[in-house]
Amino acid sequence: MTFADDRSATMDSLKRALPYVRLFKGKTFVVKIGGAACGDRTLLNDLAEQLSVVRELGVHVVLVHGGGPQTSELSRKLGIQPRMIEGRRVTDAAALDVAVMTMNGAVNTSVLSACRAVGLQAVGVSGLDAGLVKARRRAPRSVIVDGAPQTVDFGHVGDVDSVDPTLLKSLLAAGYLPVVSPLAADDQGNVLNINADTVAASLAHAIGAEKLVFVTDVAGILEDKADPSSLISCTDLRGLEELVENGAVATGMLPKVSAIRMALDHGVQRVHVIGSQRASLLTEIFTNEGSGTLIVRDRRELSAAEKAASGELATNGGGAAATEIARVASG
Ligand code: ADP
Ligand code: MG
Repeated sequence: MTFADDRSATMDSLKRALPYVRLFKGKTFVVKIGGAACGDRTLLNDLAEQLSVVRELGVHVVLVHGGGPQTSELSRKLGIQPRMIEGRRVTDAAALDVAVMTMNGAVNTSVLSACRAVGLQAVGVSGLDAGLVKARRRAPRSVIVDGAPQTVDFGHVGDVDSVDPTLLKSLLAAGYLPVVSPLAADDQGNVLNINADTVAASLAHAIGAEKLVFVTDVAGILEDKADPSSLISCTDLRGLEELVENGAVATGMLPKVSAIRMALDHGVQRVHVIGSQRASLLTEIFTNEGSGTLIVRDRRELSAAEKAASGELATNGGGAAATEIARVASG
């Protein structure tokens, strides 16, 4: 490639990104990063760099992190065998101590340190801070374990009761990037462990986020989880339902699917599941093709005009209406 080619490619990319930049300026995105990315310094640094670009383009960001692998690793070191059912951690008193140490301690701090390295003004909080996430202990419930129904007490695991977004709004208004650990408490102050996907969806709903993005350890939602090339580029709630029914979605993707449903049912326009490979977030947000899976409420809700426009957008990449419509209509 010559220098001139290179420059015109740069111009093309910028031009194609421009409608998205216009569309998202001043909006809020909730980005959830999974445990795998949190535990890999290179991935975390790359992600922080991408987030600083998103911030520079005028988008407000709330970051939520998980920490499953780190929690399991420390548990094992302490001789406590981690137990997961339907992608959620069974949390006895000892497991809760470990979750507090890893989520509010090690993981939150490493995310903050990656933000610090790129000059992002990040502030670490958890669902306990200023009553951000109010939860209620989950009652024992019947779930299928190894093919048989069983009553499981998840222990110190919470379901979100309500979210008070005041703290997040204040931080965003002051230009800070909140980094949220998914622990919460009930009104008596009992600490509860909540799946980070669930927390991210609840926060997205409460602050009226435009987008919710899950960054995980696979490129997106796969039709066959054993086959990385079976990536689904775009789907809707009905499509997700089918994937759950036919067993294509399992383990850690199950809480994500519930969170996606919840967010789309409560006003979040677009949800994305992406990998943590280089530039995955910017590619997903600012290009028509994306890098992972885009999920909308109902693909059929696209008007005929939008569908017609999308054909044009897909070929010339222009126009202020260049939302991910092109992908929804074609993918
Ligand atoms: P995170 O820390 O990002 O929440 P999880 O391990 O909880 O990560 O969830 C992601 C995992 O879900 C993937 O690594 C994969 O093993 C599993 N999974 C199950 N079904 C699917 C599917 N259909 N497509 C992609 N991943 C799936
Ligand atoms: Mg998970």
